[in-house]
Amino acid sequence: MEKQTMNHLSVDDVKQMLLYVGENITASKDYLGEIDAEIGDGDHGTGMATGAEAFTKKLQESEFETVNDVFKTTGMEMMKSMGGASGIIFGTMFSDGVKQLESKSSIDHTGLSEIFRGSLDSVKKRGKADVGDKTMIDALDPAVQSLEADSSKELTLAVVLKHAEEAAWNGVEETKQITAKHGRAKTLGDRTKGYQDAGATSVWLIFKSMREWVEQHEG
Ligand code: ADP
Ligand code: MG
Repeated sequence: MEKQTMNHLSVDDVKQMLLYVGENITASKDYLGEIDAEIGDGDHGTGMATGAEAFTKKLQESEFETVNDVFKTTGMEMMKSMGGASGIIFGTMFSDGVKQLESKSSIDHTGLSEIFRGSLDSVKKRGKADVGDKTMIDALDPAVQSLEADSSKELTLAVVLKHAEEAAWNGVEETKQITAKHGRAKTLGDRTKGYQDAGATSVWLIFKSMREWVEQHEG
């Protein structure tokens, strides 16, 4: 039998996929913390894991009618539980992308591209940062550009997410070349060169997890 590819995500697929993202964030708590400790205060792993545990609980105990509500709830839980700059940044990444989107009961890769474009624009606005500032935007911006470049092509969701994951990772690599301008790392200035940004690493992990979930659920 031919391999079944996954091209659409139902409301429950999106929920299961984000639960898998949450599992991976929790499992990467120490890894993310160590990266942040190099040039930040080392709390990024515990912060992200706190957010992931909060949204996991909420997603598990809730019933959702739309894809929009799943993303929105995920982000809101991160904002409420994490606090601080990264709570707002990552909360916004999950909750704001669906704001401009009509209510959907399923999405394909074009829908995913629209969601993350909304996320990126909102994160930039809220955090007043842009590409080259050594933040998570350095991974999210290229990931969104990759999603947009693929959005009119006939590709499977897994392939599109693989491209976005690779673009995010290239962005993480690029953050090593940049001096930090935002967050706590900015006080270290030039000493931040050579170290990758923790938040950018989280963005890569999120795209990697979404790609893995889709691959694992293809028949
Ligand atoms: P804190 O900076 O409060 O210690 P975390 O360690 O959890 O919070 O998160 C740090 C990450 O947040 C950084 O690595 C960076 O990617 C991201 N970040 C910080 N400020 C901004 C901003 N203004 N815009 C986008 N991302 C940001
Ligand atoms: Mg920190």
